[in-house]
Amino acid sequence: MDNFKSSKFPLVVIIGGGFGGLEVAKHLADKPVDILMLDKHNYHSFPPLYYQVATGSLECESIAFSLRKNFEGQKNFRFRVAEVNRVDTDNSFLETTIGEIAYDYLVIATGSTTNFFGNDQIEKYAMPMKTIPEALNLRYMFLQNLEEAVIARTVEEREPFLNFVMVGAGPTGVELAGSFAELRNHVLVKDYPELKKEEMRVYLVDFLPKVLGPMSEEASNKARSFLESMGVEVILQVKVESYDGTNLKFEDGRVIRTKNVVWSAGVKGNVPEGFSKDTIVGGNRIKTDVNCRVAGIENVFAIGDVGAVITDDTPKGHPGVAQVAIQQGKSVAKNLLRIINNENLEPFKYNDLGSMATIGRNKAVADLGKIKLQGFIAWLIWMFIHLISILGFKNKVAVFITWIGSYINYNGGTRLILRRFIRNETPQTAEEVTKEAIQS
Ligand SMILES: Cc1cc2nc3c(=O)[nH]c(=O)nc-3n(C[C@H](O)[C@H](O)[C@H](O)COP(=O)(O)OP(=O)(O)OC[C@H]3O[C@@H](n4cnc5c(N)ncnc54)[C@H](O)[C@@H]3O)c2cc1C
Repeated sequence: MDNFKSSKFPLVVIIGGGFGGLEVAKHLADKPVDILMLDKHNYHSFPPLYYQVATGSLECESIAFSLRKNFEGQKNFRFRVAEVNRVDTDNSFLETTIGEIAYDYLVIATGSTTNFFGNDQIEKYAMPMKTIPEALNLRYMFLQNLEEAVIARTVEEREPFLNFVMVGAGPTGVELAGSFAELRNHVLVKDYPELKKEEMRVYLVDFLPKVLGPMSEEASNKARSFLESMGVEVILQVKVESYDGTNLKFEDGRVIRTKNVVWSAGVKGNVPEGFSKDTIVGGNRIKTDVNCRVAGIENVFAIGDVGAVITDDTPKGHPGVAQVAIQQGKSVAKNLLRIINNENLEPFKYNDLGSMATIGRNKAVADLGKIKLQGFIAWLIWMFIHLISILGFKNKVAVFITWIGSYINYNGGTRLILRRFIRNETPQTAEEVTKEAIQS
């Protein structure tokens, strides 16, 4: 067993260098603890902008940041690329791809992955977008399909390559649909003069009655009208039944012929093995108390998308958004220090700062408490918030310059097929997708 306990201080192991994990490590800097962060990637990434990577508007390097570089100079911090497979909470150690690791305190911040709700066929053919390699796969797939469309001989042959369907009308589906529509309206018509704009159809579908379900009625209605004004076909209140790689079938009998289906209709927590069934609640999340401490286990915390603070006020836990992960990370770091100092813990209180989504150029919606904004002002706020939230000065500048360029010439981004996307016949795990991306 690797011994990372090198000093007199307790060892805090953090699994995951996403929004939550990062915050824990940051708030324990210069404190009397040793920190070991484990992540299967050596970088922190910024999921809210994956859709821009998928549509080729941003390069992936500008929304990813080296975890080692981020903690440069933090003396009590160590990092290893490792995947955690199992947690032994009785004996306080982890089984990982680099061996067993003992801990004094454990923070699980492993986030979530795509939920296909057990539909293997959809999992096999639809595209998820929960990691950077998956966003790149999406980019290559849709560019390859456009090239296929160009050489197709008949309208019928061409049709499935030119229908783009986002399943799930949450922020990811809405942002992707808007982005695809903009790309079609301003860029693809120039890149592919052989193709007619009307032939490239963008759909957004959901079984719920509104887009952006958790947002206000105003935001939802405005987002829908923005999307429709850009030519997105919004189909609501009907469930997807099956998808065989070409035919997307709905429960009401409708069929869309498409080779481009993005699945953003659900997520589930990335829970390592080792937890009993009664610790796991809806959405495959780990049940915790108000201190984000795993129910019944003194020295293990679960935060962000993988954790669920279950109380009378939050019977389903908090929403799976970055602010929850960030605030819980900070709260857990403070409580760890309280434990070490034999002080009482302070319960986690979520301060909801609001939510926003962008639909396209000058078009966004924002619910900021009682203030509801739509259109240009919301779009400016959305850009500002996202820009300041990206890690690294160089990344912020790169994104800002790319955005300015796109705003001026309507044609930002590169649409290069740098590696061929080959659809795997068996569903791949996120790790397999990452390994393939690294190898190619
Ligand atoms: C496309 C997309 C768009 C989004 N847009 C928004 C938005 O606009 N606003 C918003 O607030 N939220 C948004 N979210 C949600 C937000 O990204 C998450 O709520 C947030 O990332 C959760 O933070 P976290 O720390 O729990 O997990 P993450 O940030 O997902 O980090 C988890 C980390 O754990 C690592 N990991 C996972 N399993 C293991 C393992 N077994 N071993 C080792 N390492 C592991 C992963 O590599 C990753 O680095 C979006 C999410 C997606 C996918």
